Amino acid sequence: MQSVSIIVPCYNEEAVIHESYSRLKRVLDGITGYSTEIIFINDGSKDRTAEMLSAIAEQDKQVKVLHFSRNFGHQPAVTAGIHRCQSDLAVIIDADLQDPPELIPELLAVQQREQANVVYCVREKRKGESFFKKLTARVFYRSMNYLSEVKFPVDTGDFRLIDRAVMNEFCKFKEKGKYIRGIISWVGFKQVPFYYKRDARFAGETKYPLRKMLNFASTALLYFSTKPLKLSTSLGFIAVLLGIVYAIWTVLGKLMGFTHAISGWSSIIILVVFFGGVQLLTIGVLGQYIGILFDEVKDRPEYIIEKSENC
Ligand code: UDP
Ligand code: MG
Repeated sequence: MQSVSIIVPCYNEEAVIHESYSRLKRVLDGITGYSTEIIFINDGSKDRTAEMLSAIAEQDKQVKVLHFSRNFGHQPAVTAGIHRCQSDLAVIIDADLQDPPELIPELLAVQQREQANVVYCVREKRKGESFFKKLTARVFYRSMNYLSEVKFPVDTGDFRLIDRAVMNEFCKFKEKGKYIRGIISWVGFKQVPFYYKRDARFAGETKYPLRKMLNFASTALLYFSTKPLKLSTSLGFIAVLLGIVYAIWTVLGKLMGFTHAISGWSSIIILVVFFGGVQLLTIGVLGQYIGILFDEVKDRPEYIIEKSENC
């Protein structure tokens, strides 16, 4: 019999934990032919999430809980879940019930039927999210595909089913800044899409404020692409070309008398500002990559587990 783990990252989710657990439990009880378990990762929650999860683990031995020593973030939480998972299959799902747990049996069926290694869930509709969130998500997934050397399926979050082969490969990834949906797509094997409608958050509010969203987007971009470096080289190249054209124009103008040397103030300011901007921008891009090299070289752990229950 195959085994399935459901990996659920939780950060300050006291408002949804009970509902998530009971809906997951109901779904898992209905699944036949697989042994099942739930792995909750408490990502350093500051509310009652930790106690609530411990209480659940106390009365249900099918539930494993990993408590982080502080908030490390959504991606490290999912990573810890995958590292700890020993089952043949795993489903990654958010705690807030935006991704309906009732779809899990369908994911398993698709996996069986297609003999797939990954079943990734594509959001056809997103309910209850702000216009801003939907717009930034749309722009993000499309520009990632333009900027990255690898092509990713668009409008796909971490909600997906992965098998042992993919988990084994995932565990070999030593990079600390993880863009999980990118890595899973990168490893290849047989990956099939599954279309669904994303619900509104059951309760509580998003744990992804703009700051975290930007951070997430920059990890995705910097870890999967060197195109920003190439783009900044092109930008520098265009600036140099413009500079040469302008120099020729100035010299010719002087020789042939169609420019007046003294009236050069605005053009100088424009050039200084333009080249200054190009330089700062390209240095900034370099800095970003040096920053991630620095972080990776330190080789710090991605997360720290303070306590685990039932495992
Ligand atoms: N999450 C987490 N650590 C964080 C932020 C979020 O473990 O630092 C979890 C959160 O509890 C939820 C999932 O990641 O289960 C997705 O977060 P959320 O629903 O707030 O993001 P959104 O759906 O708004 O993008
Ligand atoms: Mg959510």
